[in-house]
Amino acid sequence: MKIINVPIKNNEYQINIGKGLIKGVSKYLDTKRNYIIITDSNIPKEYIADISSKINIKGTVVFPPGESTKSFENAEKGVNELHKLQANKDIVLIALGGGVIGDLTGFIASIYLRGVDFVQIPTSLLAQVDSSIGGKVAINTQYMKNGVGNFKQPLCVLIDPNTLETLPKRHYNNGMGEVIKHALIDGKELYKGLIGNEYYPIEEIIYQSILIKREIVLKDVFDNNIRNILNFGHTIGHAIEQQSNYEILHGEAISIGMYLMSKNTSYRDTLELLLNKFSLPKSYDYSVDSLMKFIVLDKKIVNNQINKITIKEPGNPLIERVKIGSIKEYL
Ligand code: ADP
Ligand code: ZN
Repeated sequence: MKIINVPIKNNEYQINIGKGLIKGVSKYLDTKRNYIIITDSNIPKEYIADISSKINIKGTVVFPPGESTKSFENAEKGVNELHKLQANKDIVLIALGGGVIGDLTGFIASIYLRGVDFVQIPTSLLAQVDSSIGGKVAINTQYMKNGVGNFKQPLCVLIDPNTLETLPKRHYNNGMGEVIKHALIDGKELYKGLIGNEYYPIEEIIYQSILIKREIVLKDVFDNNIRNILNFGHTIGHAIEQQSNYEILHGEAISIGMYLMSKNTSYRDTLELLLNKFSLPKSYDYSVDSLMKFIVLDKKIVNNQINKITIKEPGNPLIERVKIGSIKEYL
């Protein structure tokens, strides 16, 4: 069992990581409160049953799986379901699922009755190492991934690595895309562990990954500056993801983005080995113009300039303001 504190001002919370934790959630949650589980139809029913047997559950709202679930329409549906269940201000929402459910539930929690509490129980690797940490919640719009969202910190994050046993392999590898990103940004233990050991325990990978993300989030909670280094590979990655209509998964798309942004660096061969190890892609077959259509919509563009994030060498990330068009040289 591992505990990580996230001391965000007025919103301090804990991340608990432990195999089998889902069977003992009452240890971490206030058993006097009422909860509503929000999940998707791929999440094994036994997880819902395990949680429901330990705390007061007023209801469960089940969405279809997939990125298109993160929509305005579903945020509205979710809100109406909460009304139907007569959820009041002291309800606690439980996000039980991958990043899609975490983002949608967090977004609903941030707007329902002007804000109610929520708990993250991430069940995909990507959500465990990345999206459940840091308080960014969002839905997609027709034109932009995460085009509408909020900052909303959870009461706590409960991670049970045993849930990964039912996660399809492609989604497991997808999460490794973000793990590799964290490893490159940090360049220390996680990076050495990934390239050194044939077997590096997943619990340790999750723990190290979160420590790296936490350190950066705490320096810049509202994503005004340094937190942007977490977007390494994401400018190109988001464009590929959207151009593919989300058929290329997020972790896959940023793998391509990281590989392209690492050209002319000393670590590129190591990155290639790591990406290959987890069957992650390194190239795409869209036109440069089709990707630029998305890149020009980047949220951080001011005066035609965009943030370019590179990693000089593992542990040494760099953010530069550059003309939007100069991203083309990497495409
Ligand atoms: P991500 O977590 O990568 O952002 P999703 O939320 O879409 O993306 O989750 C990826 C897919 O894996 C979804 O189809 C989701 O229903 C499914 N999933 C998530 N966690 C588990 C799990 N522990 N067991 C089985 N399927 C899961
Ligand atoms: Zn990402």
